[in-house]
Order: sequence, then structure tokens, then C-alpha cells
Amino acid sequence: MAISFSAKAKAEICKIIPQKRCCALAQCFGILLFCNTFGAGGIRIITESRDFSQLLPKLFKKAFNISFDRQPEADATGKLNFQINDSEKLSAIMEQYGFTLDTLSLHINLPVVEEDCCKAAFLRGAFLAGGSVTDPEKGYHMELATTHQSVAREGYALIQEVMGFYPKSSGRGGGQVLYLKQSDLISDVLTYLGAPVAAMGIMEAKLEKELNNRVNRRCNCDDANTSKVVEAAQEQLNAIRTIRNKGQFEQLPVKLQQAAVAREENPEVSLTELAAMMEPPITKPAMNHRLQKLVQMAQEVNA
Ligand SMILES: [Zn+2]
Repeated sequence: MAISFSAKAKAEICKIIPQKRCCALAQCFGILLFCNTFGAGGIRIITESRDFSQLLPKLFKKAFNISFDRQPEADATGKLNFQINDSEKLSAIMEQYGFTLDTLSLHINLPVVEEDCCKAAFLRGAFLAGGSVTDPEKGYHMELATTHQSVAREGYALIQEVMGFYPKSSGRGGGQVLYLKQSDLISDVLTYLGAPVAAMGIMEAKLEKELNNRVNRRCNCDDANTSKVVEAAQEQLNAIRTIRNKGQFEQLPVKLQQAAVAREENPEVSLTELAAMMEPPITKPAMNHRLQKLVQMAQEVNA
């Protein structure tokens, strides 16, 4: 199976291992608030990113010195499932963030994300657990999903604070999704999260699309010109035929006869090319003048 653009971006982000404990805690906080389940009933993190699944146990070890109660085999693929159900472990984790097992509504506890290093680590965790980014060949879309309403609201404000713009926000299946649709903003966020290669992928796809559009526009333009040339040539050919049919051709000045024959023999070429075929070669306006003269004469013999 081909590796998705999202998985590639996550692999890049997973190379950044938090060095300070404050950052490990912040990254785990982002993971927990944006993962599948985080509450008194347990923790469940499901991911398809192998890189994230390899980082996850290390992060929990560093932040809480806690291991998962259930985690996939080292060589597992597909949906990888991590769980903590032990209530002692759960309350230890909750406590780290100022919650208890009775806390009903989880939110982004601000002291955890106070430092700039921790803000970035938090958003990295949020993206790894609850985020995705669409392959730019298919469209521009990046999102972060959470099941906690107040977390979505606070995440919205946090993104504005660190990135300088607000994401869009919408409800989905009882949860909340923060998302972006602009290529340059998505690219900025990926760079901020530590995925410059994916960020560049977005900008390259955008450039390629723009280039293709320009080429298409130019082709359309050429087509329009081509059809104008064909139309004009058709009018000239009709005029020359009329003049011949009326027996007037031999009476034409030599220069006009030469122009008429060149056009009859080359019905599809442009004025410039036709002008170059004259003996001696003439300018494009002069060629145009000769052909217009033929059209005008045909109208006169027809009248
Ligand atoms: Zn930190």
C-alpha cells in the first residue's frame, strides 16, 4: 500500500523527540486531547502511522513513566491500537494535567502549554493523534479532530496565537474539527510542526497546478488564434474562387495573383508565413493588404 501524504508528514514530525520533560508532557497532552478516547473510562489511541506508534510508548515513558496496558506488536500494520485502562495509571496521568478521574469537561490546561517549546510540542501531539493532511494533488485540506468541545475552542485560540491566523471550525459526529483549506496556511503549519518536506510538497503541488493552468490558458489562446486564422483563410479562399469563377483571375495584377495562388496552396498557414513565401518576401501587413484586396474585389464582381 502506498504511504499517504499524511503518514509522510507524521513520519517527519515523529523524528522530533522532545528533549525536555515539559515538552514531553505537552506533546502527550496534545495526543490525549485529540485521540480517540481520553477520560475516566480509559485511554484509547488508534493510529495508522507506524512512526507515531513507535514514538508513542517512548513519549508516555518520558512524560509519566507509564507503559500502555495494550499496544500492537512491533511488526503490526493497519490500525494500531494503544490502551490504558488501569485506574491508577489513569489518575496519575489526569493529575499531571490538573484533572481528577471525576473531571467531566477536559480543556487545555494553560500552564502545560505556557512555553513556546511546549506549544509546538502540544500541537505536534494533537496532529499526530487527531490530525490529517490531504495529498495536495487531490486538494488542500488539513484538519485536527477532537471529541472535547472546550478543547476545540481553546485549540482554535492556540493556533491563532502561534500561527497568527484562525483555522475554520465545524462540528462532526458529536466532536469538533478545526481545519484549513488554504495551501499557504497548511504549508506554514506543517513547517511549524517540523515537517518542512511535506510543507514544500504542498507548495510544489501548488506551483505545478498554476503552471498547468497557465499552459492550458495559453493553449486555449492559441486555439482561438488558430480558429481566427482558419476563418480568415476561408474567406480569402472563397473570394479567390469567386474571382476565378467569374473569369477575372487573369486580369489581376501579378502581385495579387501570386498572393492568391500562395493562399490556395497553403490554406492553413498564418499571414506571417504566407508573407515569407512571396517573391520577394513581403511584410505581414503588406500580405494582409493583398488578401483583403482580393476579398474586396470578389465582393465587387459579385455585386
Ligand atoms: Zn517545553
